Amino acid sequence: MFKKYFVKLSVLFIVLLGSFFLFHGFYFAVNIKGPAIEKKFYTFNNKPFNDSIKLKLHVYNTGINKVASLLVGDKNPWRPVPTFVIEHPKYGLIVFDSGLSSKVALMGKKTLHPITRLLFNTHSLKSKDLPSQMVQDSLLPIKVERVIFSHLHFDHIGNSDAFSKATYYVGQGTDLDNMTRMEGFEPDFMAKLIHNHAFKEIDFSVGKPFATFEKAVDLLGDGGLIAIQGNGHLTGSISLFVNLPQGLIFLAGDEAVHFDWLNNDDVQKISKNPKRAAEMRNRIRMLRELRPDIIIFPGHDFPKIPLNRTDIVVNNPILFTKEAWPLN
Ligand SMILES: [Zn+2]
Repeated sequence: MFKKYFVKLSVLFIVLLGSFFLFHGFYFAVNIKGPAIEKKFYTFNNKPFNDSIKLKLHVYNTGINKVASLLVGDKNPWRPVPTFVIEHPKYGLIVFDSGLSSKVALMGKKTLHPITRLLFNTHSLKSKDLPSQMVQDSLLPIKVERVIFSHLHFDHIGNSDAFSKATYYVGQGTDLDNMTRMEGFEPDFMAKLIHNHAFKEIDFSVGKPFATFEKAVDLLGDGGLIAIQGNGHLTGSISLFVNLPQGLIFLAGDEAVHFDWLNNDDVQKISKNPKRAAEMRNRIRMLRELRPDIIIFPGHDFPKIPLNRTDIVVNNPILFTKEAWPLN
């Protein structure tokens, strides 16, 4: 009996405390300088890229997210939730992150755990989930053979059960057994997905240095997709290089949350492994310094894409503007 009251009171206390901090924008920065990174760009010397691979990248936006200032400070605008579809001449369609689910369009932040709701807001619109947008572009979800998740937070896995014939990839160390809604996961959805599909953990123990990173795996063995061990945002989180005909691009996932984050030493209160997050940030900064030609797509931001890049298609560019997501 007392235990029940105690739990209820504790929850009430946490909620009140959370509301207080939210209201007052109470924030302490988590400044971590991180290690210096060797000024060297590694390539897979034993396996040069196959120039005959003609990949194409489609970029979609599935909605917007806003993180409370308690976690990220005062600069906390609504940010996009992009997803990516790669067309591969041999391996069909490959999805990297699937963004927000159609449930978010219906229920907004009510899809989140009541406590998570104090710290996150999320918003989408009907038919703007990835599978719906793909169908409109005649990229059929049933033709997706591989889905690669940067990590398993709710805003990166939405509606991914639509890819019914796919094999799913996650980074080594991803904890599939201890996901809770309070920490931004969807354990029931994931349990079904894991039950119904082949799941593969990318094994970085055989990884080699690539670009400015220590552990990389050539996912398909043809140099087209290079997975990078991250582990900064979450244990098991990854990034992905895509070797497009007009040049490499880097899909950072939440190893670089957005450009403001990348340009600041404050790793904020959003990563599970803050020290590692700072190291990954420094490695991505070194990548940018050594190879400014490589386009970086952060997890929740949108880079400038040169007009001559016909290998990158931004589907529905209007959805990358603020006006496309009216809140009421
Ligand atoms: Zn995210």
